[in-house]
Amino acid sequence: MPAVNITLQPRPELDASVDHAIQAIVAGAVVGETCNTDLAAGPWDFDTRPGYGPGSSMGDVIPTGSPRQGELPREYREASEAELDERIRAAKAALGDRVVVLGHFYQREEVVVHADYVGDSFQLANAALEHPDAEAIVFCGVHFMAETADLLSRPEQAVILPNLAAGCSMADMADIDQVEECWEQLAEVYGDMDATDAEGLVPVIPVTYMNSSAAIKGFVGRHGGIVCTSSNARTVLEWAFQRGRRVLFFPDQHLGRNTAKAMGVPLEQMPMWNPRKPLGGASVGQLADARVILWHGFCSVHRRFSVDQIDKARAEHPGVRVIVHPECPMEVVDAADEAGSTDYIRKAIEAATEPTTFAIGTEVNLVQRLAADHPQHTIFCLDPVVCPCSTMYRIHPGYLAWVLEGLVAGEVRNRITVPASVADPARVALERMLAAKPPAAPAAAWENAS
Ligand code: SF4
Repeated sequence: MPAVNITLQPRPELDASVDHAIQAIVAGAVVGETCNTDLAAGPWDFDTRPGYGPGSSMGDVIPTGSPRQGELPREYREASEAELDERIRAAKAALGDRVVVLGHFYQREEVVVHADYVGDSFQLANAALEHPDAEAIVFCGVHFMAETADLLSRPEQAVILPNLAAGCSMADMADIDQVEECWEQLAEVYGDMDATDAEGLVPVIPVTYMNSSAAIKGFVGRHGGIVCTSSNARTVLEWAFQRGRRVLFFPDQHLGRNTAKAMGVPLEQMPMWNPRKPLGGASVGQLADARVILWHGFCSVHRRFSVDQIDKARAEHPGVRVIVHPECPMEVVDAADEAGSTDYIRKAIEAATEPTTFAIGTEVNLVQRLAADHPQHTIFCLDPVVCPCSTMYRIHPGYLAWVLEGLVAGEVRNRITVPASVADPARVALERMLAAKPPAAPAAAWENAS
């Protein structure tokens, strides 16, 4: 099937949104493909399915007693896009400074237009800090992002995730029980995990990507570890190597591999840990030699990018500048001109003074927004299939209207709260990240600019 034409138009963006492209494909009005048949259904189609809940993104079974989304009231499910837009604006106007709405770079355009801030997860958590008097922070992202905002906000502030079924498939790939089990198995190989060797190094420092649950960040905080983002992963690994013989990196194998490779760590010293296998599927010898143990996790959006797509872009657009996210597989990062975080990609495009053709390897909502904001450039997504972050896509405007109108009526809906026993060590891990200093001489171009 030929690829859908999602050639991007300048704003008004509602006529060029990813959602509209998906609906047009589903209705047969446009020939093309989407990456996930679930995208064809209204997000409320999932509300009453068993197994959906906080952080759930793959039909995982969630613990009994966890709050579930429940069915969105009919008036929101049946409202037109224009009506929801109007109701959201009216609720925001009524709430004024009492609420801050945050929109992730990957969020659908119909929601982002109502955001007070747009950015990556950590930028948005910090944006919330600029509003200590706001009663509520409505985080239009996914579950781990709302948890991080709760960690960093004041206890009186309510952090709200409009749809509890907006999880992150990558974050779900490292659950706390699996990580605890991994740590116990590693202790059988390395001995006392708190003991230092002659050089003052412990056997393993755990490092978690920001895209992980608060429980995982808490684990890392309790075991001398640290959090990283895609912007500071190299800095964080340098920090970890100053304290440990090796690193256990989760959940994203690709960010870990790409970063460590750029620092000169040989691939053969990066065994994979598959939580479904004894010793993660590695041998004792591999673990003894390891510098970075990579968790078997990935982003379902970024792993779709391929070298073939880059070759095609270069053939069809001579001189194209290819920039990909470091969550992409290593061979894709190697074949690209540059790799960097969402913020790096945005800044690289903003800094281009001459009309340029960019092929971008990251989530399509961000690519589409960049194209609309920079009509002097030709900007397209490397993946010809329309593939948004399918869990973030569940924040339909209907849910945003529902939580905002709840606040107007004095009711806090879908509050995300991290218990103190988890929040305290998780904050320690975040504070270590903030205190970590960049290395003296960055080795990879994609680490320099974000
Ligand atoms: S794009 Fe990937 S890593 Fe980011 S929130 Fe979506 S599933 Fe998670």
